[in-house]
Amino acid sequence: MDAEAMRELLGWYRENGRSHLPWRETRDPYRILVSELMLQQTQVPRVVPKYEAFVRRFPTLADLAAAPRQDVLALWQGLGYNSRAVRLHALARLVTHAHRGELPRTEEELRALPGIGSYTAGAVMIFAHDTPAHSVDVNVARVLRRLFFERDERPTAKDIDRLARSLVDAAPSPHDWHSALMDFGSAVCTSRNPACATCPLLARCKSKGARPDERARAQPRFAGSNRWWRGQVLKRLLERAYDEEAILRAIAPDAGDTERAALRKALSGMLEEGLIARDGDALRLQG
Ligand code: SF4
Repeated sequence: MDAEAMRELLGWYRENGRSHLPWRETRDPYRILVSELMLQQTQVPRVVPKYEAFVRRFPTLADLAAAPRQDVLALWQGLGYNSRAVRLHALARLVTHAHRGELPRTEEELRALPGIGSYTAGAVMIFAHDTPAHSVDVNVARVLRRLFFERDERPTAKDIDRLARSLVDAAPSPHDWHSALMDFGSAVCTSRNPACATCPLLARCKSKGARPDERARAQPRFAGSNRWWRGQVLKRLLERAYDEEAILRAIAPDAGDTERAALRKALSGMLEEGLIARDGDALRLQG
């Protein structure tokens, strides 16, 4: 482990970190959890106003548990991947009933809750309790790989995890260390255009640039994707119940076979997840 690299990265974070983000200003495990679920697959600038509105309306886990699902989904609208909202709502109800309204305080117990994976459990431990834990997403993994492995090395996911664990264990504050890695990956060591020429860690960096094994992946098209269709369905069903034909016409007035098949795929996923229900011909949100 390169202690100097850690020290310098923490120094960079103190000057440039995003401590103003609303979820960085709290240590409430519930609010950290909300932010982590919102940040999965959604960019920070889109999450900030949604997060603020969400915790204003549901300031505690108990408030969220007591709310109708429809209200939760209405506030989640625009973030996409609505099953995250459904999972969070179900979890709030479970914790309220089975854990006296408090999220557990260990990584293992958090992971045992439905809808909380290893990354999210680790993030809650790190950001709420400032405790070393495992929480490596693609951005953190990229920064660690570039900084600590030579360009021609091919570290496995396990190698990265091991390194991440040893670093977070050694960090004076796991909260600040993890925040530093995330902010540095977002502002300097970005996926497509790492700013190596001006990078404050250039002298410490083993790769000194994007590695040959990192191929820029084209962003998948959003409009017309399954995620887009699910968002459109949700938007309509938040207003009222629809039958399948009417919702298709409302979303795509000139729909053909392709759109019909895309709608059916979205509906079938949403029905399977219990997000919506069929009532005769009518489709409606599950309460
Ligand atoms: S030198 Fe480039 S690759 Fe290395 S840490 Fe800095 S930005 Fe990332």
